[in-house]
Amino acid sequence: MICGFCGYEFDESEGKRGCGGCGGGCHSVHCPRCNYKNPAEPKFIGTLKGILKRKGD
Ligand SMILES: [Zn+2]
Ligand SMILES: [Zn+2]
Repeated sequence: MICGFCGYEFDESEGKRGCGGCGGGCHSVHCPRCNYKNPAEPKFIGTLKGILKRKGD
């Protein structure tokens, strides 16, 4: 996935989940670089983004 704040691309498994610092429980994936709280997205969206990115490159 790509961080919505800094644009850093990382695997969802690399992000920090369940940080314990978010109100109401953490259901997000925190960017390993800037710790931005990215909403966990279904895998197919990430795949679509990857395709679009490749086309636009
Ligand atoms: Zn980030
Ligand atoms: Zn969190």
